[in-house]
Amino acid sequence: PVVLGIESTCDETAAAVVRGHDLLSNVVASSMDEHARYGGVIPEIASRAHAEAFVPVVSKALADAGMSVSDVDAIAVSAGPGLAGCLAVGVSGAKALAWAANKPIYGINHVIGHIAVTQLQFGAFPPDTLALIVSGGHTSLLHVGDVARHIDVVGTTLDDAAGECFDKVARLLGFPYPGGPHIDRHAQAGDPHAIKVPQGLTQGRAGREHPYDFSFSGVKTAVARWIEERRAQGLDVPVDDVCASLADSVAGVLARKAMRGCEQYGSRTLIVGGGFSANSQLRAKLLEVGAEHGVEVRVPELRLCTDNGAMVAMLGVNLVEAGVAPSSPDFPIDSAMPLDRICM
Ligand code: ATP
Ligand code: MG
Ligand code: FE
Repeated sequence: PVVLGIESTCDETAAAVVRGHDLLSNVVASSMDEHARYGGVIPEIASRAHAEAFVPVVSKALADAGMSVSDVDAIAVSAGPGLAGCLAVGVSGAKALAWAANKPIYGINHVIGHIAVTQLQFGAFPPDTLALIVSGGHTSLLHVGDVARHIDVVGTTLDDAAGECFDKVARLLGFPYPGGPHIDRHAQAGDPHAIKVPQGLTQGRAGREHPYDFSFSGVKTAVARWIEERRAQGLDVPVDDVCASLADSVAGVLARKAMRGCEQYGSRTLIVGGGFSANSQLRAKLLEVGAEHGVEVRVPELRLCTDNGAMVAMLGVNLVEAGVAPSSPDFPIDSAMPLDRICM
């Protein structure tokens, strides 16, 4: 099947056409620069940018694929989770297009799209696959029974997401939003053992075991306190070392828990997705521990890690192929769409 995918959950307006496992076009417009000086995404600005970018981005995705909307078998659009105003723009546009062209529409889960997109590079999922989702809003370990029908949440963050932790430390260091890529770059020049950064939730909390859950707010606070103490003493902050130590701690705990999960679930494959999977320290760590544990780590090329339309279209293809019923014409957006809900 051929599916047009449309994405507007946060600050990227994106569209792509996928046929089977082939990416025919992929267009991304971002309003990121407009948010940089505010230190975070401003929903009103992002929603307005989606309204402006929607028609040009979707038109270009169809044109690049050499198609018109009548040539696609279905339209898929992110229905959540994300910013409500942003979702409303993309979903309304996609519904109008589906209605005008008389095509089935699927309101899909953006986060599951981050998993699905790896099929463009690595093909279909083997049985008993685990997926590590690391993004600006999520840090979760999922069991992929059938990407079109059945996903189970194995573990999730109890507080901040890994990307959020990086973005907050980046802010303290004076980097513009989003700070994750800046930390990544500085970390490459630093000593990962220079500063002792706690490992988030390696032990059970208050006697309870959280073998697959994550916690990064303590990591962020520890690094923030260390930076503040240095500044209070009039010492300069070794930025590269702070970044390297933070990245090493976060990558280490993510990799360890993902491998523990693979062992427990008998999974020989680990799918990795979400914007934070662009992080070079995490990618290196996962490939290293994957090789040690005999687990194939499938982490997408960089442009498919951050938000895009291909992830939405690919999940749409999976839904069409599985014979899942399209969403009803009045399906709502769900800004807090749960991770075990694949489609509206
Ligand atoms: P979600 O997918 O949970 O809805 P989102 O769509 O906002 O969240 P993504 O676009 O998937 O998130 O990812 C954005 C995050 O990825 C930001 O926190 C950003 O700092 C982080 N990020 C991107 N590149 C890197 C990198 N190289 N190193 C660390 N973090 C990175
Ligand atoms: Mg973004
Ligand atoms: Fe995302």
